[in-house]
Amino acid sequence: MDIAGQAAVITGGASGLGYGSAKALIAAGAKVALIDLPGAKLDDAAASLGALACPADVSDAAAVESAIAKAAAAHGPARILVGCAGIAPAARAVGRDGPMALDAFSKVISVNLIGTFNAVRVAAAGMLALEPLAEGERGVIITTASVAAFEGQIGQAAYAASKGGVAAMTLPLAREFAPKGVRVMTIAPGIFGTPMLAAMPPAVQESLAASVPFPSRLGTAEDYAELVLTICRQTMLNGSTIRLDGAIRMNAK
Ligand code: NAD
Repeated sequence: MDIAGQAAVITGGASGLGYGSAKALIAAGAKVALIDLPGAKLDDAAASLGALACPADVSDAAAVESAIAKAAAAHGPARILVGCAGIAPAARAVGRDGPMALDAFSKVISVNLIGTFNAVRVAAAGMLALEPLAEGERGVIITTASVAAFEGQIGQAAYAASKGGVAAMTLPLAREFAPKGVRVMTIAPGIFGTPMLAAMPPAVQESLAASVPFPSRLGTAEDYAELVLTICRQTMLNGSTIRLDGAIRMNAK
């Protein structure tokens, strides 16, 4: 797909990988709407990019429907969806104080997995009704898993389950939308230097960066955004999860 002039919606667009993707898509000529939790972070991000702020909790059905309707009213229905909204709290299934609270597990599944599907179902409905472009393409959906989908560490049962779900739904969604020319791809990042990671102590960040075989550094939002642009442009990419990880394979802890 030629990105210039297309409408794009990015969940989790106020920070990290979503923000980087928004910046790159705007530089490539897209009209971008950011979906993120309501607040100053979203408003500032949208203002700094010249993007449209569409506040919503991705796990809320009605809120995402209104946010995507707001984006469509301003830019036309999106042909590009990038799903980046996510949370990564760690907790053992059985900790010092006993079993993990079930609500804590549900929350991660609700934001990362159900929230991803929520944006996909609403954005895809808009894409399927659009006029086809070259090759019959109507749109492209890019979701974000994690290498934890494949090598979850101790304390990541909820996170790994949520990201495994995101990776697993890539093919059935791609198969469902293929007759209408909407592609679905997932990126599984390794360890990226975003605000999500900045919450960890610097020594932990350094040791994580050193554990990446090559290049031996944290991934950047620009690395992620470059792959987003490639997926948008390369129509043969469909129905797969791409690891973007410098060959890292996570240890148990
Ligand atoms: P980040 O914390 O910088 O950005 C995540 C964004 O999602 C934030 O702006 C946050 O406000 C938003 N968000 C959280 N809950 C939301 C909700 N309920 N509704 C709407 N928005 C919500 O993190 P990031 O590193 O940019 O992560 C982006 C995605 O990449 C996440 O899905 C994360 O799991 C995944 N990922 C990150 C890494 C990494 O190392 N940073 C590795 C693998 C996967």
